[in-house]
Amino acid sequence: MTRTPALPARPAREQAGSMGATTAPETTVGLTARAAASRLRADGPNTVATPPRRHLYSRILHQLTDPLVALLIAAAVVTTLLGDRADTAVILLVVVVNTVIGVSQEVRADTAIAALDRMTAPTARVVRDGRHLVVPAAEVVRGDLVHLEPGDVVPADLRLDEAHRFQVDEAALTGESVPVARDHGTEVYAGTVVVTGRAAGTVVRTGPASALGRIATLVATTRPGPTPLQRRLAGLGRALGVTAVVLSGVVLVIGVVGGRPLVDMAITAVSLVVAAVPESLPAVVTLALALGARRMAGARAIPRRLHAVETLGSVTVVASDKTGTLTEGRMAVQRAVPAGGAGYQVRGSGYEPSGEILSGAGAAGALADLARAVLLCNDATLAPPDAERPRWTPVGDPLEAALVAFAGRCGLDPDAERAAWPRAAELPFDQETRRMVTVHRRPGGGYLAVCKGAPEAVLATPLVTGTPPGLLADAYRLAAGGLRVLAVATATYDAPPDPRTVRDLRPTGLVAIGDPLRAEAPGIAAAFDQAGIHLVLITGDHPATAAAIGGQLGIWRGGDGVVRGDEGGVTAYGAGDRRVFARIQPEQKLDIIAALQERGHVVAMTGDGVNDAPALRRADIGIAMGGGTEVARQAADLVLVDDNLGTVAAAVAEGRRIYDNIRRFLRYALAGGAAEVLVMLVGPFLGLAVPLLPAQILWVNLLTHGVPGVALGAEPAEPGTMRRPPRSPQESVLGGGLLRGVLLAGTLLAAVVLGAGVAAHALDRPWQSIAFVVLGLGQLGIALAVRAPRRPGGGRNHALTAAVALSALLQLAGVLLPQLRDLLGTEYLSAAEIAACAAAATLPGLAVWLAGLKKRGTTDG
Ligand code: ADP
Ligand code: MG
Repeated sequence: MTRTPALPARPAREQAGSMGATTAPETTVGLTARAAASRLRADGPNTVATPPRRHLYSRILHQLTDPLVALLIAAAVVTTLLGDRADTAVILLVVVVNTVIGVSQEVRADTAIAALDRMTAPTARVVRDGRHLVVPAAEVVRGDLVHLEPGDVVPADLRLDEAHRFQVDEAALTGESVPVARDHGTEVYAGTVVVTGRAAGTVVRTGPASALGRIATLVATTRPGPTPLQRRLAGLGRALGVTAVVLSGVVLVIGVVGGRPLVDMAITAVSLVVAAVPESLPAVVTLALALGARRMAGARAIPRRLHAVETLGSVTVVASDKTGTLTEGRMAVQRAVPAGGAGYQVRGSGYEPSGEILSGAGAAGALADLARAVLLCNDATLAPPDAERPRWTPVGDPLEAALVAFAGRCGLDPDAERAAWPRAAELPFDQETRRMVTVHRRPGGGYLAVCKGAPEAVLATPLVTGTPPGLLADAYRLAAGGLRVLAVATATYDAPPDPRTVRDLRPTGLVAIGDPLRAEAPGIAAAFDQAGIHLVLITGDHPATAAAIGGQLGIWRGGDGVVRGDEGGVTAYGAGDRRVFARIQPEQKLDIIAALQERGHVVAMTGDGVNDAPALRRADIGIAMGGGTEVARQAADLVLVDDNLGTVAAAVAEGRRIYDNIRRFLRYALAGGAAEVLVMLVGPFLGLAVPLLPAQILWVNLLTHGVPGVALGAEPAEPGTMRRPPRSPQESVLGGGLLRGVLLAGTLLAAVVLGAGVAAHALDRPWQSIAFVVLGLGQLGIALAVRAPRRPGGGRNHALTAAVALSALLQLAGVLLPQLRDLLGTEYLSAAEIAACAAAATLPGLAVWLAGLKKRGTTDG
């Protein structure tokens, strides 16, 4: 998806003949596209049991077995037996409309989620018709030639045709996370992860026939469960249900004591329960989350799980890698310091292996030795410009590619040098030791050992002797300038030395590599700050480099501490607010997350390597780069297609918007429900024996909870969304004054309805119909009042306006159309009466709106 479709030529490494590598001819052309297509048809897609699609009838059944709906159906049976056609009709209408809304929201949500799944589906690198291609892993077929690199998830069971220092982690199959070496001729299994080395293999089994497919019933068939918010809201729904049942019971008792028939009052109570509980809540929440996820994906941050959408809104820390995320990941050697000599300034454009070396003093021979050393102790190559890419591009580690370009700038021919100094042995770069060693045959006989790595991991160790006094200080000075510094040491031997035990190398010099901060990075850091989110920098680099970059970002000031991973700083980290972490190894990210979470933070963490997967899973929000490894993408909650951290800020804003809208819906729906219950409870004591008939209650419920409720989920973000602190993850969804607001608005609405009813009663007007109209319109007024304040230049949620207008019309039709009057038991109201009702109905909405204005006025400062 985000990988390049055709890969450049392989690095020259295997031509140089690395130790212990088994080489097989790489001339295979793979399957033809036609053969692959027909195999795909014959064998089916290479996927392990996807959860079965839910059928329409099972969705409908699911809606109908909801306790509320079951209650309604029971009531419909009773009204039918009583021969009460009108009530039966209204009840069934409510059931049908509820089911249609519920099912359609569910289908829309599922469609949105399925689309997200497709966007982050795993991919595989195959060779077809002799061309390297990236295809969805689902399209891999038997016989396909697959290439594997570190971070890849093995797409199917393969027999390896070639393998170079190849190791896989089979935790997906065995549960044990240790790298296992796999040589050519052996099999590797679907779902395992490539840890080191490279390999190519031929697919022998796919899909359900593969090793992962055979255990898939254990791992892959369950749909992710409800999100924490969905679970909490389900709990809230149950609590509301119980409250509504109890209060409706009271209404029933009051009615029966007042001399009403029991059956009538039972139907009334059932209607009231249905009306008071916001039955569209689950649909509103799921749809809001799913549509929010789709919007995030449109902004190039793809949520892989729905819970990411809601959690993003409460993120308090974003812990970001430095290289490639906050920096451009385009590296270039800027300074070279041969040991004992003065420094050189290096100039050049991008990865082009030519440019300028500027300096005054120093022996040119010493610089050439340094350049050759970093060229040889190096696995990267450069790809020249071609039709697809107009510039030189790195193949392999960009840091090492920068060293190749540097050698070119020093006048060396990289290919010729590597051919003249063939590699005899090596100790690959290790993030724990932070260095790498290679051994080469010298053109004139004998051997050369080269070690390059972090200065303190090379110069200040028993590996090296005779470090000139100024060199470590030079290294520190360069690091403090924001550059990544590598130290290089070499030695010559007669017999080939073991790279694991070389000693007494001589310092050859330092190279300092620059990786410019992304232009937008300081702005992103500032935006996070405004939103109350701490940006934290995590790097394997030197503390001085990290601090310098932190300074450029505006998250570090002179004197602030830097947490050092190599001195046990991470475990000691606990107090303090330090935001720069240096010399961190990927496993230590877990400790950082734990320390932050312990302090109540909700942590988003970026990562793109093989070793980052555990941290991505552990973080509240694991963020993978689209250009990172497959395993990181599959472990993440959020995938940034454009590798741009700024997109996270947009996703956070979206998460906050969705949460705001869910609270908006609650404010509106619960206030309406509370008003309905209060009217029915208090009315009898004010001389309004049964304030509303069951059909009237259900009609109001239908017009208010249905369409306008769902439309509230589409409200745009509030103006200050990213200028306020994140909500506390502990805060209840009804917290922050919401519950009080609901009760106040509900009481006010009930008071207005009852006031209108009592006044009409006194004037001998059709008071019940008046109460009915005021209640319905009053709720719609609250819907308008809770909508998001308009942003300058921001769009309007026209769906809500339309929904409210339609509902208001249907509300009035309830007293104006004779057929509906028969159905609902209402009476005709004159234009003047309707106008009076409308005027009264604006009062609760107006109050809610003013309260909202006042609240924003105080919080916005
Ligand atoms: P980061 O997290 O910033 O990418 P790494 O963990 O990759 O950092 O690297 C840590 C340190 O190891 C670097 O600062 C550098 O000194 C050294 N280093 C990185 N890559 C290489 C390499 N290919 N060869 C030798 N040393 C390296
Ligand atoms: Mg790195």
